[in-house]
Amino acid sequence: MSLVDDVRRLWQMPDEKLKEMASEIVSSIFADEIFIRYIVEVSNICQKNCLYCGLRRENTSVLRYQIPEDEVIKLVEEKVNCDGVVSFVFQSGERGDEEFVRYIGRIVEGVKKIGDISVVLSCGEQRRDVYKYWRDCGADRYLLRIETSNPSLYEKIHPKDLLHSWERRKEALILLKECGYQTGSGVMIGLPWQTEDDLISDIVFLKEIDIDMVGMGPYIPTPGTPLFGEKVLSKEERWRLCCKMASVLRIVMPDINIASTTALDLVHPFGRAEMFDWGANVLMPDITPMHYRQEYLIYDGKPALGCDYCIERYSDRILWREKGDPVHYLKRVNDF
Ligand code: SAH
Ligand code: SF4
Repeated sequence: MSLVDDVRRLWQMPDEKLKEMASEIVSSIFADEIFIRYIVEVSNICQKNCLYCGLRRENTSVLRYQIPEDEVIKLVEEKVNCDGVVSFVFQSGERGDEEFVRYIGRIVEGVKKIGDISVVLSCGEQRRDVYKYWRDCGADRYLLRIETSNPSLYEKIHPKDLLHSWERRKEALILLKECGYQTGSGVMIGLPWQTEDDLISDIVFLKEIDIDMVGMGPYIPTPGTPLFGEKVLSKEERWRLCCKMASVLRIVMPDINIASTTALDLVHPFGRAEMFDWGANVLMPDITPMHYRQEYLIYDGKPALGCDYCIERYSDRILWREKGDPVHYLKRVNDF
């Protein structure tokens, strides 16, 4: 049987059975422990114009910012000292100019000087030399969602120009792996026009590209973006699909890291916490200072989403002082 048939067969199983299977895998591989990474949204300036995102270039109502690098480094140092966390994600809009490339490079170098910290970047599509430069500065991991594995759906949710090309995005994932990053990707779930077959193909895509980490979450319609107003599934349906995606992916890729993402809290009152029963093993609290965070409006309702309830619920399962490299990556590079 082909991979797609295997995934389809799993997809057709009852949700509760998938939940049970995914939980068993998480218990046996991760002993129910949860990896933690703090995320800092370092800049909301973006050259792209994705039709679903509040930070798109043409959204002139956004107050654009770039947090000075010494402020980012100081924030990380404080958190390392107070909470002992040693894994940090730096996320931003996408830019290709030299000033931005050096800015991110200085953040990575500054943070690496604090101690043995794992640095994760999520700064969009870049040239090979940029990925290589950031890796040389010390970056360990990179998150770049493919958004959807279906190129024609990708075209419908992006402007039609060279800056927004599915092939280029896929190529970027391959470059990241070639540069030696622990590589993460993911998709949006419940996009307009997306079918369940698309979601099955998403899982096949992530498996075939042999990804180390996955962050995926529900699509959130956002006022002021061109896609707002297109027909979408109810919150309940999007939540159900997110659970199914995580559990099937966990069964198909048992040893990858799967993040429980912020947007889940917008389709279920305790979405981020509940996702740990469906195969997730990574929590990513946002530590961006509030006056910046309220301008990082990728989707509607985001800044209000605190994560304290999740941390309280799982405090004894969180591995506070561990970098939490994906087991999948360790196996991949050691080839055993
Ligand atoms: N600019 C970088 C990183 C920041 S955007 C990049 O695009 O890769 C991070 C993620 O936010 C995107 O990959 C996308 O999946 C998600 N996102 C953007 N708009 C969204 C929306 N309306 N609903 C849900 N997720 C969204
Ligand atoms: Fe920019 Fe990322 Fe938003 Fe696209 S999804 S507009 S690249 S911040």
